[in-house]
Amino acid sequence: MLELPIVDKKTPRNRKPDWLRVKLPIGENYKKVRSLVDKYKLHTICQSGNCPNMGECWGAGTATFMILGNTCTRSCSFCAVKTGRPSEYDEDEPRRVAEATRLMGVKHAVITSVNRDELKDRGAEIWYQTVRAVKEQSPETTIETLIPDVRGNWEALERMISAGQEVVSHNMETVRSLYRKVRPQAKYDRSLEQIQRTKAYGKRTKSGIMVGLGEKDEEVFAIMDDLLAHGCDVLTIGQYLQPTKMHLEVASYVHPDKFAEYHEVGMAKGFDFVESGPLVRSSYHAERHL
Ligand code: SF4
Repeated sequence: MLELPIVDKKTPRNRKPDWLRVKLPIGENYKKVRSLVDKYKLHTICQSGNCPNMGECWGAGTATFMILGNTCTRSCSFCAVKTGRPSEYDEDEPRRVAEATRLMGVKHAVITSVNRDELKDRGAEIWYQTVRAVKEQSPETTIETLIPDVRGNWEALERMISAGQEVVSHNMETVRSLYRKVRPQAKYDRSLEQIQRTKAYGKRTKSGIMVGLGEKDEEVFAIMDDLLAHGCDVLTIGQYLQPTKMHLEVASYVHPDKFAEYHEVGMAKGFDFVESGPLVRSSYHAERHL
């Protein structure tokens, strides 16, 4: 196999390389998405996660709604979503997400949520009602749910994924050796089990990882093997970007050629699809993986 450098050594860690330059958010579609988000008082991971693709995605008229509020019970060191004890339990949110999705007119809707570890059902009921409401209002729209770690509450998982969505995603985020540092309240094997159980319900399964956190090539290939062994169909791989100075530093900016290699290796190992590139996020071009 061709050996490619994982780090762009010419680029200092605090300066982003050219391939991470993105379009500024502008245009009519962008304004339409923004006004729907405001009008229906919704949250998006695009905004809460400081996603670099907002110009492209919102400019194409799509966004990823984040349900169950804007405060997460976890404190992952890579994530820009605010941590705390959430106060919101908004039973009207499913209706508003469904209306905004219908008005956006997307063929494929991606929905995610914060972690709600303090809720007995981990937020499964709101998840269920949201997917049902979107299906009722937009029966032609396919739905992808990027769900959180249910902490082994498999009843909650079943409720969350039994609402008729076409794809269920759960992000591993990083390789096994970096879990403590990157995702301290999660467990590598528990997340794999969640994917395996999702597959056992007959769902199309998807997961995503970030690179540039200090992982080695062999570890990226090992997580591919682990995911395949647990029934994962689709994998996304993207560059980690530090949302603020309080978050984990970027260990390396991975060269686009290395992302191409990850794509090739993943496809050869047996994924149905691997989307791999510096700006890839789990909801980026998600309709392509169906
Ligand atoms: S990649 Fe996902 S999170 Fe980022 S702007 Fe696009 S839809 Fe939003």
